[in-house]
Amino acid sequence: MNANLFLALRQGFPQDLDSLAIETDQGLRYSWRDLDRASAMLANWLGSLDLPEGSRIAVQVDKSVEALMLYLATLRAGHVFLPLNPAYQSAELQYFIGDAEPAVVVCTPANFGWVSKLAFQKGSRYVMTLDDQRGGSLLQRAAHHSDQHTPAMRRPDDLAAILYTSGTTGRSKGAMLSHANLHSSAQCLHHYWGFASSDVLLHALPIFHVHGLFVAIHAALISGCSMLWHGKFEPQRVLADVSRATVFMGVPTFYTRLLALPSLNAQACAGMRLFISGSAPMLVDTFTQWQQRTGHTVLERYGMSETLMLTSNPYAADERHGGQSLRVGGSVGFPLPRVSLRIADTQNREVPEGEVGSIQVRGANVFAGYWRMPEKTAQEFTSDGYFITGDMGSRDAQGYVRIVGRSKDLIISGGLNVYPAEIEDALNNQPGVLESAVVGVPHPDFGEVGCAFVLAKSGVTLSPEALLQALKSQLANFKVPKQCVVLQELPRNAMGKVQKNVLRDQALSLRSTH
Ligand code: AMP
Repeated sequence: MNANLFLALRQGFPQDLDSLAIETDQGLRYSWRDLDRASAMLANWLGSLDLPEGSRIAVQVDKSVEALMLYLATLRAGHVFLPLNPAYQSAELQYFIGDAEPAVVVCTPANFGWVSKLAFQKGSRYVMTLDDQRGGSLLQRAAHHSDQHTPAMRRPDDLAAILYTSGTTGRSKGAMLSHANLHSSAQCLHHYWGFASSDVLLHALPIFHVHGLFVAIHAALISGCSMLWHGKFEPQRVLADVSRATVFMGVPTFYTRLLALPSLNAQACAGMRLFISGSAPMLVDTFTQWQQRTGHTVLERYGMSETLMLTSNPYAADERHGGQSLRVGGSVGFPLPRVSLRIADTQNREVPEGEVGSIQVRGANVFAGYWRMPEKTAQEFTSDGYFITGDMGSRDAQGYVRIVGRSKDLIISGGLNVYPAEIEDALNNQPGVLESAVVGVPHPDFGEVGCAFVLAKSGVTLSPEALLQALKSQLANFKVPKQCVVLQELPRNAMGKVQKNVLRDQALSLRSTH
């Protein structure tokens, strides 16, 4: 049987191929037939290049429906899709292209000069262009090809995509995802979140990342549900479309920015079925405010490039709670069906309920390893086949999972473990604090100590000394950061993740100037 993921997605398309699949914020409308035909033409073009099996197709372009068609075409042709953040500059691209050795690189017309030079130097055979207005050489080439195409035969374990991890803690690694990994996760989300062809997904996420590409787009395509497509997240424009949508997926920053709009209320969200958040922790305050303002309870879920989706708060009524749907703020919910998750100690044994340990997972969704890094891959799997996520967490009596941070963010002060999430929670509960991030910095006596960065709520002036004093009355002294800095903004990457490495550098430079 052909395990090509495209076939599974294509099966989800509705019977009426002329119905609306995607409407963009530029007013363009694409039918399911458009998606099918255009991806066939692009796949035929790829086929005409006679590339070796498993060739990588690297794509660094702005968000557009045509970029999505190129992804589908890559699946159809049986090659490996490699999306790259358009914000990457020359040195970064050099690393990715050198590491992945793509046969084809697709970039924006504006970047063609430097990208093509770099790609040809690294051995790529073709460099094409695509912009977000349907311009560039790629579509011109594809226009000469047939709009009929039979998807290439693929086995379940064949590679479908490589996603480079965001690398907030070190060198970015290419996570190799197979057709079966992606299919398993897409099917799971379709069922678990109750997707139907009557849904309308409001899509405002970037599509070079697992969240926008694999979680959102796969869930929509495999369910035959249409999308309202936003090139980028602009809160006003997104809110204006909420009334026409039924499902929204966002990173926590999307939610805080929407909450800043006075017109966000229950009426604006009356037609919505589901708000989903992930990629970074949502503050309980945001979760509660969203409930109060809109009447909707955000469903928070957890996953990563290497594993796709792992846990989710309940969508449907859940027998564990007497038939009630219970989504809990500050928790990422329960392991999804077919995902085995354990919270383990350093010997890879399950820790007792409530205790913090390393989150380890196994399942059909878990990737095949890091691209050309067999040793790194071996280090990240336990002998019984669990992937060590690098996240630390706990599970409560009801089974809800909570994430307390990355293991690399763990601060060991005077030999004792300090979890930044616990300190951040305590700080966030202080009057006037909007948000916080705690990092560890080397200390001659304690080995490491915490440094806290806080943001004030609008109109409030915070006193760092008073905040640290307040923490001392609530937390054991070894947990209290030795330094506190008030910032205007926290450094974040494109997915809204706080870049702790940037804060760590800042904390170090603060110390050296004191
Ligand atoms: P990425 O591969 O870029 O999606 O990053 C995955 C990482 O994001 C995970 O290992 C977690 O550290 C973090 N993450 C994703 N979802 C959540 C969430 N709901 N709460 C807390 N952290 C999350």
